Amino acid sequence: MTKRALITGITGQDGSYLAEHLLAEGYEVWGLNRGQANPRKSRVSRLVSELSFVDGDLMDQGSLVSAVDTVQPDEVYNLGAISFVPMSWQQAELVTEVNGMGVLRVLEAIRMVSGLNGSRTTSGGQIRFYQASSSEMFGKAAETPQRESTLFHPRSPYGAAKAYGHFITRNYRESFGMYAVSGMLFNHESPRRGSEFVTRKISLAVARIKLGLQEKLHLGNIDAVRDWGFAGDYVRAMHLMLQPDEPDDYVIGSGTMHSVRDAVRIAFDHVGLDWQDYVVIDPALVRPAEVEVLCADSGHARARLGWKPTVDFPGLMSMMVDSDLNQVSREHEYGDLLLASNW
Ligand code: NDP
Ligand code: GDP
Repeated sequence: MTKRALITGITGQDGSYLAEHLLAEGYEVWGLNRGQANPRKSRVSRLVSELSFVDGDLMDQGSLVSAVDTVQPDEVYNLGAISFVPMSWQQAELVTEVNGMGVLRVLEAIRMVSGLNGSRTTSGGQIRFYQASSSEMFGKAAETPQRESTLFHPRSPYGAAKAYGHFITRNYRESFGMYAVSGMLFNHESPRRGSEFVTRKISLAVARIKLGLQEKLHLGNIDAVRDWGFAGDYVRAMHLMLQPDEPDDYVIGSGTMHSVRDAVRIAFDHVGLDWQDYVVIDPALVRPAEVEVLCADSGHARARLGWKPTVDFPGLMSMMVDSDLNQVSREHEYGDLLLASNW
């Protein structure tokens, strides 16, 4: 029988890669579509042609029950979120609603549609649930690298809301026997990454500077260290996490550390330019509370799921710069329509 997956956040970076991966695995894939005439829906439809859509919003419980009931999925991947950390200081309540309470609403929708009555069952219902947790939950962690047992110390409303989503996922597993899994993913990027995130901001700027369309690149804290990987590798891990007989939580990352300064140097080197001629430090871009260092110990996922990444950090930055060089030159030739759509 063909398996059916429902993905919230289908119009985002990970949603598109996960949909491609699941379709290649023979799944029927449905995406939760938010809002009226969402322009990002046609963008992902162009990219992933065999998708089906159902309307719904993580802010609206009834719409989620209706979506789960309509699709009757085998697997639900909750990737929907307001994912840009600085936004979470500007709209803390909204981010908490979507990224925190939104998780509870999806779990409740599954529980209602599965007919679980609130008591612990042995079967736990049929639907398997994946929650997109984040390394931002570790924040100012007391140990490096971070593993599943590392204590959380979130440094933003985003990280705090993700920590709630993480714990409520685990709680529904323990309370109701649901097959609910939390993937604690470290930063992952691609040519489809939003241009507000630092890797894509850098790759786009390098392409524009190389083509003579931009003069400077303004950045905040370039000493921050992250464990960056390729989104295409990380969506494979999401799928793998829902396959074992017993649900568990997993840290996913490359286990390598690079600073923003490294990212800038690699990207400018790739096109034969010296980053120090172009980068301007802008104190306005420094965050109220920073996550200085993140690095994953994904030994559990590697051992239990057989997962490992295929793209290293220099390979990732080069891939993104090459993609943006291609995109920006086409934009320059045909007007700004292509870049606005980004994919
Ligand atoms: P994106 O920002 O690219 O995508 C976010 C998605 O969430 C969009 O499809 C957006 O849809 C959707 N969304 C926003 N608000 C709502 C809402 N109220 N109801 C339903 N959907 C909504 O994020 P990524 O693809 O990069 O990340 C996927 C998930 O993984 C997120 O939860 C993120 O927090 C988490 N994560 C990401 C990491 C990374 O490095 N990329 C690291 C760790 C965790 P719309 O078009 O409607 O706005
Ligand atoms: P995050 O780790 O999920 O917050 O991903 P980002 O790509 O947004 O940020 C990664 C790191 O880059 C953070 O430590 C930021 O403080 C740092 N950084 C430095 N300058 C910038 C910038 O101009 N934009 C962004 N987004 N981040 C920056």
